[in-house]
Amino acid sequence: MERHQRVVSRVASKVKEYFTRKEAFRISHGSTNSTRPSLKNRVVDISELNNVLKVDTTTALVEPNVPMDRLVEATLPHGLVPPVVMEFPGITVGGGYSGTAGESSSFQYGFFDRTINSVEMVLADGEVVKASEKENADLFRGAAGAVGTLGITTLVELQLIQARKFVKTTYHPTTSVAQAVKKVRTQTENQQNHYVDGILFSKDHGAIITGEMTDEIPTGHEPQTFSHAWDPWFYLHVESKTKDVSSPVIEYIPLAEYMFRYDRGGFWVGRSAFSYMSFPFNKFTRWFLDDFCHTRMLYRSLHASGESNRYVVQDMALPYPNAEKFIDYTNDTFDIWPLWLCPLKQSPQPTMHPHTKGELKDDQMLNIGLWGFGPKDRKQFLKMNRDLEEKLGELGGMKWLYAHTYYSEGDFWKQFDRKWHEQLRAKYRATTLPDVHEKVHVDVEKLEKLAKDDWGLWARSIWPFGGFWGIWKAIQSGDWRIPKNSTWRWR
Ligand SMILES: Cc1cc2nc3c(=O)[nH]c(=O)nc-3n(C[C@H](O)[C@H](O)[C@H](O)COP(=O)(O)OP(=O)(O)OC[C@H]3O[C@@H](n4cnc5c(N)ncnc54)[C@H](O)[C@@H]3O)c2cc1C
Repeated sequence: MERHQRVVSRVASKVKEYFTRKEAFRISHGSTNSTRPSLKNRVVDISELNNVLKVDTTTALVEPNVPMDRLVEATLPHGLVPPVVMEFPGITVGGGYSGTAGESSSFQYGFFDRTINSVEMVLADGEVVKASEKENADLFRGAAGAVGTLGITTLVELQLIQARKFVKTTYHPTTSVAQAVKKVRTQTENQQNHYVDGILFSKDHGAIITGEMTDEIPTGHEPQTFSHAWDPWFYLHVESKTKDVSSPVIEYIPLAEYMFRYDRGGFWVGRSAFSYMSFPFNKFTRWFLDDFCHTRMLYRSLHASGESNRYVVQDMALPYPNAEKFIDYTNDTFDIWPLWLCPLKQSPQPTMHPHTKGELKDDQMLNIGLWGFGPKDRKQFLKMNRDLEEKLGELGGMKWLYAHTYYSEGDFWKQFDRKWHEQLRAKYRATTLPDVHEKVHVDVEKLEKLAKDDWGLWARSIWPFGGFWGIWKAIQSGDWRIPKNSTWRWR
């Protein structure tokens, strides 16, 4: 705790310096899952805040820069696990609270911040405060999903639940989008399910995946794993298990292997890297390039290559009754498959998290993950993204703020309670920090100017230099070593 306090007071005095000079800053913790271009010059580095300080019977005290895999490794030996563990092992606790993060248990627990009891924050003027439902409750709720625009989170008290050894996983095959959407919804109502999500491989083939935690494996079943180089990528495995069958298929997956099942291949984003490099995509090449196919490495390469500027990475929450219409729309315009379905519990209002608008009021909403290459032409790419935002608004949905956001300031704020957010920023002296729109908006003109003036960016836009540069930067990061040393993997 002493070390923690020392680091926090260093962070606080750096923040105070910026406050005195009325300068905005960005938060750096050494990695990111966001695909927005990061135009950083003034930075507060919190990478040292990377320890789990305490695990007791119901809670863990965790510094913000602890990623999901290290968190699970710290709690599992106590027979405990956080209720919401984001599918990518590199997503941090601080990023999860400050951004929008959720997963296949979020239909039950809500977004990640809803499983947090309290946070410690360094406000924009350098003051260190605590926030919870009892103390500075407005800050506690308002900073969740506000992407660091109210201050820096420096400590989190997280809830824990009892862990079990395995997840009894059922793949329910579906043959239409309507059927899949309906099935996700009904499975969230089944009290036995701890996890529910789904993959749509095409309009007429999908799988809804449900999970129940259990300590037992019936005889005749072997644990199925997804973390080893010869293991299948999860989405390909589900595709092959549910193709041409009409009955549910059951498997037993060790708990942590289940939580990080999408890591290899980054759901299916990794497949795009093979097509970009015109590299064969098969079991052998996936084994050979396994070090490069974990999410940390994939996102390092994606950022460095410059390809993230034309890659669509969007998660969008919609009211259930409009989900099918929205999928018809993305099929007609983007033709990107597979799609991810993840049911989510809405957060209480007001919130900076995505929520549904309009008359279709419901405690639950459906997240649709659309990830794949967009058109090469910048203008067309921009137009398709703006149209997507408009369509989403028409259907009462909203995108997560981690990715490219093109809304004008006015359109952006129509989605949220701007007055509430601005009053909070004034109350907690955060107006020297960039506001949410400023942080998440992609300034296309600025980017284009940068691309013209910076020969490095220009060179990376030429195939395949960007790809090789991305691979080189990912190797340099050393992140390929992390999965090899991960103790959560089933051995
Ligand atoms: C491709 C992709 C896939 C994703 N998949 C999933 C998924 O499967 N499941 C899921 O739950 N989520 C997913 N997300 C969303 C992800 O959980 C959020 O974007 C999350 O905020 C990322 O956390 P990070 O640790 O990478 O933080 P960053 O991306 O570095 O930070 C997110 C924002 O929070 C701010 N921030 C970070 N740390 C702090 C802090 N300590 N104090 C204050 N502000 C801070 C940053 O400034 C930034 O604005 C995905 C995102 C992407 C881009």
